Amino acid sequence: MPTDITLRDGVARFLADDPGRLLIAGAWVDAHDGTRFATLDPATGTTLAHIARAGAADVDAAVTAARRALDDGAWPAMTPPERSKLLWRVADLMEEHIDDLAELETLDQGKNLRTSRYGEIPAAINQFRYYAGWPTKIMGQVLPATVGKTPPGKQLFAYTRREPVGVVGAIVPWNSPMVMTAMKLAPALAAGCTIVLKPAENTSLTALYLGRLLLEAGVPAGVVNIVTGYGAEAGQALADHRGVNKITFTGSTGVGKRLLASAGGNLKRLTLELGGKSPSIILPDADLTAAIAGVSAGIFDNGGQVCVASARIYAHRDVYDEVVSGMATAGEKLRLGHGLDPDADLGPLVSQVQAERVDRFITEGRAEGVTVVSGGERSGEAGTFYTPTILTDVAPQARLMREEIFGPVAVVTPFDDLDEVIGWANDSDYGLAASVWTEGVSSAHRIANRLQAGTVWVNCHSYLGPELPKGGHKESGWGYENGPQGLENYLESKSVVMVL
Ligand code: NAD
Repeated sequence: MPTDITLRDGVARFLADDPGRLLIAGAWVDAHDGTRFATLDPATGTTLAHIARAGAADVDAAVTAARRALDDGAWPAMTPPERSKLLWRVADLMEEHIDDLAELETLDQGKNLRTSRYGEIPAAINQFRYYAGWPTKIMGQVLPATVGKTPPGKQLFAYTRREPVGVVGAIVPWNSPMVMTAMKLAPALAAGCTIVLKPAENTSLTALYLGRLLLEAGVPAGVVNIVTGYGAEAGQALADHRGVNKITFTGSTGVGKRLLASAGGNLKRLTLELGGKSPSIILPDADLTAAIAGVSAGIFDNGGQVCVASARIYAHRDVYDEVVSGMATAGEKLRLGHGLDPDADLGPLVSQVQAERVDRFITEGRAEGVTVVSGGERSGEAGTFYTPTILTDVAPQARLMREEIFGPVAVVTPFDDLDEVIGWANDSDYGLAASVWTEGVSSAHRIANRLQAGTVWVNCHSYLGPELPKGGHKESGWGYENGPQGLENYLESKSVVMVL
């Protein structure tokens, strides 16, 4: 951390107060075997806190607490308006503590404080406000009974009830920890579920801070439990647990595929929000200033550690040179530095491991003869910073073109023909998001209709909100979060048929 920055009182107090315990049944407890691991400031490598390393026994205790809270006590007795008020209260408390949450997110994950304070924590608060409106609108239907065996002289009456799916295991990644957590907790609570949350091992701090706010808001004991720890231990134990009714997972496609086997054990419901390699198509009639700024932010914000990052840029040959040099200049202008440094634009990547991974892609690309127009280097004392990178001359089958790098690395390719470029954009195992840049309304609609992606943006990139369903086509996922679809993830349907 820069020496001239002092932490906010609330953050310093939180870090001094042994924040790293598990939240189980409303109490902060150590892992059964007492083990912990360090969570680091990625910019400097210094330890911020020691976090409980949950294992199968802790996960089992959390699931048991969640089951008890689902079946008995204050939570199932709460009326829909009371649940709404509670969600709104959580949002209010988050707002009261927004500066602490933002600073903590930046310290733990690395992202620039402006992004945390004005982008991500407000987005997480919005999730709770949006879903606070839903508990009073969860309704079944009265159905016209058509069954032919109504006893003579009797009538049939049939209706559906919407019920919480049950105990939810929520597993989140490290790139936007608080937003991803809120995207799962808010709709699950609105639906009346109980939850065991497993934050990512390198970014658990804001979830633990939120745990304190949930208790202060009056969320009954056991309704939200937090088990920190590693994916292969706590995460796997949660995914395998037979007491869990639903897993909602955001993370890599590789781990997502593995969860299919875990869910199969007791046929858990499963929502998967996975990786991407999103294309952006820039037509010759685009507002180039806006397009270059939009796709540059789309790949460089949060160091490219964004599932919908604009990683593949296809620019029409008439504007290709301008796009390449414009993006390179945009990247070179970004000042790298600690997320809490007000003069810095871009923080570190989340860890050494991630920086090494990004660098391996670039080394491999150089060996294959790609052109590194700008960037392509690690930076900073701890080696976790990565310079914004623009690559050209990348072959369609190269890993750089096909795999998710999750770093500030864009590949730019020229095109001449619209059908050809739509084919290239769709030639991917992923189908998370895409953007199109054009002033032509017809082209915008036609291209948007043909792109294989869960979200298509026109003249913008990375616009997300709680009201906009978000999900992946192809290997980018199963199901949708946000909007009414996000709530459906946490509801079962029950038909009740009566002879009157
Ligand atoms: P990851 O898959 O490595 O880890 C995600 C979470 O899963 C972590 O909490 C981790 O501990 C846990 N986990 C790991 N192995 C597990 C296992 N065997 N069983 C159960 N849980 C396990 O992903 P990551 O590196 O943390 O995050 C980056 C990935 O997340 C990228 O692929 C990115 O595209 C994706 N992502 C997708 C979205 C979306 O909405 N589609 C949003 C954000 C991030």
